[in-house]
Amino acid sequence: MIPFSMLERYEGNEALFQIVMMSVVSSCAGEPLHLHAEGLRGTGKTTIMRAARGILPTITRIRGCIYNCDPLKPHCPEHRGLSASEIEAIGTEEIQMPFLEISHSAKVGTVAGSIDLARLTDVSKPEAHLLPGLIPQAHRGIIFIDEINRLADTSPEITDILLDVMGNKPGHLQIEEAGLPAVDIQVSVSVWAASNPDEDPGPLEEIRRQLSDRFDLVCYMGRPDSVDIVAHILEENSYGYRVRSARNQERLFADSGDQRYKQDTIKWAEEYQKLDMPDFLRSFIARLYLKHNLESIRAIEAIQQAAILHAVLQCREKVMISDVTKVIPMALKHRVDGDTLVRLINEADNKGSRDSILSFKNRQNDRSRDQDEDYFQHTARPLKDMHRGELVNTEKALSS
Ligand SMILES: [Zn+2]
Repeated sequence: MIPFSMLERYEGNEALFQIVMMSVVSSCAGEPLHLHAEGLRGTGKTTIMRAARGILPTITRIRGCIYNCDPLKPHCPEHRGLSASEIEAIGTEEIQMPFLEISHSAKVGTVAGSIDLARLTDVSKPEAHLLPGLIPQAHRGIIFIDEINRLADTSPEITDILLDVMGNKPGHLQIEEAGLPAVDIQVSVSVWAASNPDEDPGPLEEIRRQLSDRFDLVCYMGRPDSVDIVAHILEENSYGYRVRSARNQERLFADSGDQRYKQDTIKWAEEYQKLDMPDFLRSFIARLYLKHNLESIRAIEAIQQAAILHAVLQCREKVMISDVTKVIPMALKHRVDGDTLVRLINEADNKGSRDSILSFKNRQNDRSRDQDEDYFQHTARPLKDMHRGELVNTEKALSS
């Protein structure tokens, strides 16, 4: 596997790199950010998401706790209710932030939890215990699901589990096993999914709209459009290249920038906890919700969270209007139809223009205009200059 920091970046996949970083930073700060990458096979969406494993920082947990209990707020059946001194006696350990994968053929027991057969059949001391599944084991980390549309189509039970886990931040999960009391457990997991909306069974929002709405951001992966980049990707995918890089794996990772990303993530996570959105931008987002009758309040929560993270990743101490307009398409693409999205974006651009937002702001806060100069960047590309196709892409749109 090629390190995250060494993967080829181009215009069509840059947004995915960015939201993956945003989600890693947010998860590190303790707030999940759920991502869905849509695109054609071969655009490298799963490669980027899986490679992010290499940039995940460590977390501290109660020693040996398979539920990844935070020593400061233990939540698992075994450790919740323990005093600080009891936890100190058990000790703590550093582990890499978990990154676990659910396949579209997974079973409920594997995902949520099942009876621990090893302990049940232990000859010296047989006990009936629950073995947490992939989701509770990914607490404070990432769960990755490729082909989420197929999972939603074939596994309504697992879809229901995901709805609960992604319903709130943190979410919750119930582990049930016949003969044992059900365990309700809190989980804070960022769910990352990938799918090709043009393959069977179709786009997630058409299969299970509710699940689609749980994703904070959706990113459509474009195709690479330059000969050099395609040739480079071809090289990376060649058998010889993969054999050579497997041989040099350790050196490759040591030399890569992945370590740097880990350090940045920890720094950014601290910044994220400190940074807040100015009131006038929050009102601006609230107006979009009311004016356009957005179905879900999650949509504007996602805009707020993502805009702050975007500012953090730009190493800025202020959230700007450009941070908001940048994330609007990703937060709304799967939540409104294409025409509404375009109309909303055009309007957000006009309404979000410096003058109109300032007039709104000044009405609210009666502050002078000069003070706010640095909220507005002049380098950002206005959304209204983007084609509809860039905002609401599907393969059908690309090939028609
Ligand atoms: Zn625990």
